[in-house]
Amino acid sequence: MDVVTMGETMALFTPDQSGLMRYAVSYSRKIGGAESNMAIGLARLGHQAGWISRVGDDELGKAMLNFIRGEGVNVDNVKIDTEAPTGLYFKEFRKAGDIRVQYYRKGSAASQMSTEDVDENYIKQASYLHISGITPALSTSCKEMLTEAIDTAKKNGVTVVFDPNLRRSLWSEEEARNTLLDLASKADIVLPGIAEGEFLFDTKDPDELGRLFLKQGAKEVVLKAGDYGTYYYGEHSSHFVPAFSVDTVVDPVGAGDGFAAGYLSGLVDGLSPEKAIERGNAVGALVTQAEGDVEGLPEKADVEQLVNADANRDD
Ligand code: ATP
Repeated sequence: MDVVTMGETMALFTPDQSGLMRYAVSYSRKIGGAESNMAIGLARLGHQAGWISRVGDDELGKAMLNFIRGEGVNVDNVKIDTEAPTGLYFKEFRKAGDIRVQYYRKGSAASQMSTEDVDENYIKQASYLHISGITPALSTSCKEMLTEAIDTAKKNGVTVVFDPNLRRSLWSEEEARNTLLDLASKADIVLPGIAEGEFLFDTKDPDELGRLFLKQGAKEVVLKAGDYGTYYYGEHSSHFVPAFSVDTVVDPVGAGDGFAAGYLSGLVDGLSPEKAIERGNAVGALVTQAEGDVEGLPEKADVEQLVNADANRDD
């Protein structure tokens, strides 16, 4: 296994028309969850990824499990919870550039995850453990699970990769800040966006953020700046890798998860941090071209085509 990740995936409903959702009468049903998006991204790029989670013993949970398994992600450590339902999430396209989400996930099956879901044998076979800052916001038992998973990874030499994925609606600012800072201090690699960095350290300056995340304890900081590009800060070097230009953004949600998949794919393939970031940028850009969180995730040939086209354009 290359990467193991853990977290909640929800059934995602998107109204078939834009505007206020109160007027929506028909919806498309997809799935969405930061960690499984990332795992699907890795599988599409040809890697072995495992997803740890719980789903409800209901049709949506089974659909989700079938879908993620069908994408080639290992789901051996996903439990079916007979008491709690699969969580839901609605995406509302109010107008171009104004996309809102509404969760129905309180008490969901995945929010019941606990230290019982941490299987040392499963985690230790991976090179990387990927976690997000959404999971500790779901419940106390989920937060405990993450702590145990990180300890298990560290004990077994598995590199911990943390994407803060701030979701303000899930918890108070204070709890979010304290918990995300704590996780950032324990992770080997952190993947924040500039806005998340600003939330945690009260500055938007990339170099300052890089320095502060390193001081917090990370060995590598990969700071995403949307359509501008991505900054890298290591203990001995720093770089900036520009984003790929995109004609029209169809749906930006999931670009960060795609970026994580591309970046980790590069690390698994032994690329330098800059080249791994270039792959992450390419996957992130391609994700924005399709509606849905996972629909735009590319295969390796698509990524190579974009990277090579860009290199030729610069010549
Ligand atoms: P998410 O909404 O998934 O949480 P995020 O805030 O974590 O996203 P972004 O910075 O929006 O992450 O996007 C991740 C990466 O995807 C960027 O670093 C960039 O490489 C690429 N990307 C995102 N948006 C665009 C865009 N409009 N054009 C080109 N590349 C983009």
